Amino acid sequence: MESSDSVRVAVNIRPLITTELVNGCTDCITVVPGEPQVQIGSHSFTYDYVYGGGGPPPSSIYDDCVDPLVDAVFRGYNATVLAYGQTGSGKTYTMGTNYNDEESNGGIIPKVMETIFRRVGEVKNSTEFLIRVSFIEIFKEEVFDLLDSKSTTLGRPPIQIRETGSGGITLSGVTEAEVRTKEEMASNLARGSLSRATGSTNMNSQSSRSHAIFTISIEQNKTGSCLSAVNNDICDDILSAKLHLVDLAGSERAKRTGANGTRLKEGININKGLLALGNVISALGDERKRKEGGHVPYRDSKLARLLQDSLGGNNKTVMIACVSPADTNAEETLNTLKYANRAR
Ligand code: ADP
Ligand code: MG
Repeated sequence: MESSDSVRVAVNIRPLITTELVNGCTDCITVVPGEPQVQIGSHSFTYDYVYGGGGPPPSSIYDDCVDPLVDAVFRGYNATVLAYGQTGSGKTYTMGTNYNDEESNGGIIPKVMETIFRRVGEVKNSTEFLIRVSFIEIFKEEVFDLLDSKSTTLGRPPIQIRETGSGGITLSGVTEAEVRTKEEMASNLARGSLSRATGSTNMNSQSSRSHAIFTISIEQNKTGSCLSAVNNDICDDILSAKLHLVDLAGSERAKRTGANGTRLKEGININKGLLALGNVISALGDERKRKEGGHVPYRDSKLARLLQDSLGGNNKTVMIACVSPADTNAEETLNTLKYANRAR
């Protein structure tokens, strides 16, 4: 299947980490030199980009994959960056979602924040901006507000997903923090990452069983007269778009986490979201289906529903499939590579 313009797929192979080296793990992935192609066992897959494992360094992910999306948002298109992969594969490291952790600084989100405020600074004399962020997580098919300081993991009321008349998706009651500087945006990211629900499993004591979605929405008005007006209904030259930065839940199967009954149910819910997302992206990438107005199954999960107005069409999506090169993870790595291959 040809890669569609609106969806690009990258694979990021992290290095073997200390625990893997100590346990004598070996590298089971080969990158074909000069090609965005990986080989594992007898399987071979080609993507839009492949980083690490002897291919281009992960530091170029932002420039290749994400900067064009930030640019699209400034031009009024919605965009989505998805980090997919098993727990421990490098999703949070790659995205830079956990802003309280210093190693996050080299990730995608800090670079996005820097770029947005640099661009705003360049045109601020002629354009007025209203920038807001929200930070939510989807856990067991419920949406929670990570920026709501009064909420606790157990006691907070779930947020409802709604569709506006014009087909936009909104979250009723979610905190949308207005930010004027990179530092203000970063402090919201930090606050939300602190409250992100985590639970321990055999695989990783900080295993992320929820999808975390940091959304930046940008409204701009070139004449500089609308956003501060009392009634901005009369303004028709406001350009508005949003960028979703999504750190998906671990894609591993529940059985590998050695889960008890409760965890197993979570595992099933998580996989339902990832399965539905895969179905949506694969339907969008299918030219024939799109031309025939074929069914894109957005309603099958909260995750797909939330991203409905930001996937496909003129919107831009990048999926970054994160994988460990360790032979002990070969089965999950193959699953991730297959999922990513289907998205393309
Ligand atoms: P996930 O969010 O998918 O569970 P993490 O981002 O937490 O995975 O990464 C798991 C471990 O691997 C962490 O210890 C992290 O520091 C390390 N790691 C991930 N990606 C890289 C990388 N590109 N280079 C070095 N270490 C990495
Ligand atoms: Mg993580």
